[in-house]
Amino acid sequence: MAKELIKNVVCPFCGSACDDIEVEVEDGKILNVYNACSVGTATFFPQPGVKRFKKPLWREKKTDDFQEIEWETALDKAAEILTNAKRPLMFGWCETSCETMRMGTKVAELTQSIMDSQITHCHGPTFQAIQMVGEPTCTLGEIKNRADVVVYWGCNPLNGHPRHLSRYSSFPRGFFREEGRLGRKLIVVDPRYSDTAKAADHYYKVNLGEDYLLFNALRAVVNGVELEQEEIAGVKKEDIVNLAEMMKKAAFGIVFFGMGLTHSLGKSQNIAGAIQLVQLLNGPSKWSIMPLCGHYNVNGFAQVMSWTAGFPYSVDFCRGAPRYNPGEYTSIDMLQKGLIDAMFVISADPGSHMPQRAVEHMVKIPLIVSEMHPTSTTQLANLILPATVNGIEAAGTCYRMDGVPLHMTKVVDPPKGLFESDTVMMKKLYEKVLARQEED
Ligand code: SF4
Repeated sequence: MAKELIKNVVCPFCGSACDDIEVEVEDGKILNVYNACSVGTATFFPQPGVKRFKKPLWREKKTDDFQEIEWETALDKAAEILTNAKRPLMFGWCETSCETMRMGTKVAELTQSIMDSQITHCHGPTFQAIQMVGEPTCTLGEIKNRADVVVYWGCNPLNGHPRHLSRYSSFPRGFFREEGRLGRKLIVVDPRYSDTAKAADHYYKVNLGEDYLLFNALRAVVNGVELEQEEIAGVKKEDIVNLAEMMKKAAFGIVFFGMGLTHSLGKSQNIAGAIQLVQLLNGPSKWSIMPLCGHYNVNGFAQVMSWTAGFPYSVDFCRGAPRYNPGEYTSIDMLQKGLIDAMFVISADPGSHMPQRAVEHMVKIPLIVSEMHPTSTTQLANLILPATVNGIEAAGTCYRMDGVPLHMTKVVDPPKGLFESDTVMMKKLYEKVLARQEED
């Protein structure tokens, strides 16, 4: 078969969801990937030496070895575990399609599960703050074409989102920013002198956990208040005044923030402070704010849950109708308190990322994991359901970090024996659960 160049592919890695990727394919194999960063490129190729799950695996006890089973049996077992549980948790989702999330929500409703995602330990405080004070935002396209002042606060995109500066914020030439990087100011506020800070025009070293104080000081200066202290949160008074002046004089400003802000002292209050500063700056200037989402479909989970259940994450269906209370129904809290009695994980590795007490509880309960290859979480599983890679082996929808929905193209077929997409797998699981409940 002749080589084919597939254009406008969306990279299924970070929240930048770059949609200009070109993939060269021959005989169902990916030969080359163009335009992506090194992290994105690596996502399209199998990792050398890493085994891919191609058949469902089952073990009764966690000390047993896994045995291969048929899909029919595997989905029966998954349906049985979820329907027999009193407090099941369905966790993950941020690296799969919105269509899969929608089917997962239907399973969660039937099984009265808690539906939660990686948002719980990344941008959960962001969504709480948005619910408190709103969100003046825009698209990445507007930033590329208009922004002349770009602030990265508590994040390091040169490492975490490698093409973010070159494609959307600092370097590209835009409609009103024909000079590209020369026509924009790049400002970094971070306790660490990160690689992004090294590339910035202005770097402000804020004390760890004191961002909230700095937001309030900036708000005071923008409001015309004379600061009494010579230094706030580790930043000199004159630097705070200069930063506030730069912000006020911007033609179009944007604040990007990451987990340095969402998970330092203050959490959702930090984000609320940042949003309120941006709201205030919309008097003398035009400003927006945007979370730098990690996985490519973090925003998609919040969108799907918001339009299906009315809440962005940690949604509890145990009473039939959705309810939401971060800190109570969030997955880490529920696991640490030992309140979960079965768990379904998809497109996530909580075994690596959750606190030890939560992982210890995962060892004690029936655990179903949908994954491509071995992870810390699959080592704790009873049932492994091989996953199809969305955006490479299956088409689907994702929401970029600015809330723009993108269609993710299929590039190659999934390995033999796998479903054509995770959505199909979730639909089959939904039918199994429904059939069991109709029998009872
Ligand atoms: S910046 Fe992110 S989305 Fe873009 S190519 Fe790199 S990993 Fe993929």
